[in-house]
Amino acid sequence: MRLTHIKLAGFKSFVDPTTLSLASNLTGVVGPNGCGKSNVIDAVRWVTGESNARHLRGEALEDVIFNGSNARKPVGRASVELRFDNSQGKLGGEWASYAEISVRRELTRDGASKYTINNTRARRRDVVDLFLGTGLGGRSNYAVIEQGAVNRLIEARPEDMRQVLEEAAGISKYKARRRETESRIRHTRENLDRLNDLIGEIT
Ligand code: ATP
Repeated sequence: MRLTHIKLAGFKSFVDPTTLSLASNLTGVVGPNGCGKSNVIDAVRWVTGESNARHLRGEALEDVIFNGSNARKPVGRASVELRFDNSQGKLGGEWASYAEISVRRELTRDGASKYTINNTRARRRDVVDLFLGTGLGGRSNYAVIEQGAVNRLIEARPEDMRQVLEEAAGISKYKARRRETESRIRHTRENLDRLNDLIGEIT
């Protein structure tokens, strides 16, 4: 699977619809200070399900919407779409048979967030699931190498390094599912305990 296009509109400094085509397997983003390099990375992180505004360098989630400049008024909506070449079927689950996969997220100022996968409405967790084990999305996100990332990796604590290795090995996906299942089992046990208490009171 390869990211081929990033389409942005109303996202941070990209107020006008902009399409970035990524022609090769390795793409570098360079440019003068403040031109929007990190905003492109934020856009990728945002579509893949980031829900913490601080990780997108903002205070609130609405901060990703273009908030005006000297020349332009603020807009009411931000959207970003990622297009992937999936001709080798590596991006998975129910979408594995699609040669091209598009993932889109949109946010309006009233806080309404909408995700779509190949134009079909999706939940955040569908999108997060889609990217688990791909290196894009999640906490490790090693497909995006930002300034200082190599140094951080070299100096990382063993447990953080392990997280990156687990994502690369495709294990993190199963660990996430295991955590979810364990939490569901815990809830079910608590419900059963409560039910037994009630039964004990009635009988
Ligand atoms: P550097 O090389 O200094 O790290 P950069 O190229 O990574 O810079 P970014 O941080 O991506 O630059 O972009 C910063 C620009 O984006 C600033 O001019 C900032 O005003 C603008 N910007 C960020 N959020 C918004 C927003 N919501 N609306 C309008 N402009 C925004």
